[in-house]
Amino acid sequence: MPIDHKLPIFDGHNDVLQSIYLPKTGKARSFFERTAEGHIDLPRMREGGFAGGFFAVFVPSNSSTDGFPGARPDSAATAYEMPLPASLDLTYAREITIKGMASLFRLEAESEGQIKVIRTADELTAALDREVIAAVLHFEGAEAIDPHLDALEVFYQTGLRSLGLAWSRPNAFAQGVPFKFPGSPDTGPGLSDAGRQLVKACNRLGILIDLAHITEQGFWDTAGISHTPLVVTHAGAHALCPSTRNLTDKQLDAIKESDGIVGVNFHVGFLRQDGRLEPDTPLSEIVRHIDYIAQRIGIEHVAFGSDFDGAIMPLDLGDVTGMPKLLQALRDHGYDEDALRKITYENWVRVLRKTWK
Ligand SMILES: [Zn+2]
Repeated sequence: MPIDHKLPIFDGHNDVLQSIYLPKTGKARSFFERTAEGHIDLPRMREGGFAGGFFAVFVPSNSSTDGFPGARPDSAATAYEMPLPASLDLTYAREITIKGMASLFRLEAESEGQIKVIRTADELTAALDREVIAAVLHFEGAEAIDPHLDALEVFYQTGLRSLGLAWSRPNAFAQGVPFKFPGSPDTGPGLSDAGRQLVKACNRLGILIDLAHITEQGFWDTAGISHTPLVVTHAGAHALCPSTRNLTDKQLDAIKESDGIVGVNFHVGFLRQDGRLEPDTPLSEIVRHIDYIAQRIGIEHVAFGSDFDGAIMPLDLGDVTGMPKLLQALRDHGYDEDALRKITYENWVRVLRKTWK
């Protein structure tokens, strides 16, 4: 590990790839040059101690009218309910997904050894040791996968190591929650028969199953079938912020039981008790969620799941260069270096080692 006091930060979720393969959703920018756009680029990662994480491939809805992040309630709203977007066409979803995957593989090639797409736990620890950015290829939703799971086999061979069963919309396998505040995550049906087959196939191949965005019923259906730790890459505690996207105490307890993990999301709307999308939100709100989860289910089961480049960050954090401030806030709150190592990377490494083949 690095010899100075800097801890390598491995993170559960970022959306930086979208700025490359979906430039319309943001300003197209180079990943290799420092800019003020978004939250992540390579120079800012290095400055913030960001050692890697889950790089999401996301397929936006075809229409500009539905859902996050196109339309958002205004920052003063204390209650909102976004409509659940329609499901996607398989051919369209696959085309965009392949664009997203290609953008990550091109980054890896252009990085001249600074970024590596990680396929095993040993590759992950080696990258952390050598200060190579460790990128896990993640799909945020299973829309690009056919019900026969042919594409899953191919995507796995190509490098897919983490799959969100659903984003916040229905698909052939599962359904996600609408963005609603306040609201329970119990918003709709669980896994379909094809969804159950998908969970078993992920277990067989060694693909991490991400339960972020899924309905509570989908969470429990997966918990009943899956043999691997339950993982939610980017969410918070529902007891502290009653958003549909956050986890109830019962869900947290099941994650502990399975030796799983929660990556705490930094999106202000999933942190604040009042759910407002207000950037003027203190860093202590992130600490509050980490603290709650650590106290309820143990420090071994909590980590970061920033949602950089996909959400509204607290102003104090700003972007990935604010991570040392967050680590300092945790130290000030009583977290020692052992605890910080668990939160920053050790917990993720343990769970990935147990999950991947
Ligand atoms: Zn998300």
